[in-house]
Amino acid sequence: MKLVCVGRNYAKHAEELRNEVPAEPVLFIKPDSALLPLGHDFYLPDLDSAIHYEAELVVRIDKPAKHVEERFAHRYYSQVTVGLDFTARDLQQRLKEKGLPWEKAKSFDGAAFLGAWQALGELKNWPQTSFQLFKNKTLVQQGESEHMLHGVDRLIAYISRFFTLKTGDLIFTGTPAGVGPLAIGDHLSLYLEENNVGQLKVR
Ligand code: ZN
Repeated sequence: MKLVCVGRNYAKHAEELRNEVPAEPVLFIKPDSALLPLGHDFYLPDLDSAIHYEAELVVRIDKPAKHVEERFAHRYYSQVTVGLDFTARDLQQRLKEKGLPWEKAKSFDGAAFLGAWQALGELKNWPQTSFQLFKNKTLVQQGESEHMLHGVDRLIAYISRFFTLKTGDLIFTGTPAGVGPLAIGDHLSLYLEENNVGQLKVR
């Protein structure tokens, strides 16, 4: 199983990190070892870097997908949730400045958290939906799927041109504005529409 992640998929987040808004999706992959096991707390890794949260809408692939056309992409997933794409921000910046790959900053053990899956049929206005991240009971990120530069179906079409998506693969669709650093003792809470889909302690 792999996690395919999309960078800079919300214009306001690209702006806050002073990145260009890309014409095509920016993709990177996390291995399955990056997924935080269910029920585990998140231990801040010692990477000489601030660790940022990035809350994202996540889609689970239901069947193998290769060269899928956008108009058929909806047949390849039926559940979504909200997840966290943890990022060693200073390390990522150092790698970017040298033109090196981001993996060390994005794919370390525990660098991805998943909330509980929600069936698409139970969401009111899919493909329009909204999600939120609270840090210590303060709202820090609010995402609307309609603000994604590339929607889920277009992402599946685009990704499957490069990588075969297998059953159980996850797509992290990018984070909205409001990313920031974590500290030991923080408590994170994720919402998809009104549903609390996940909670996590930082240690
Ligand atoms: Zn991200």
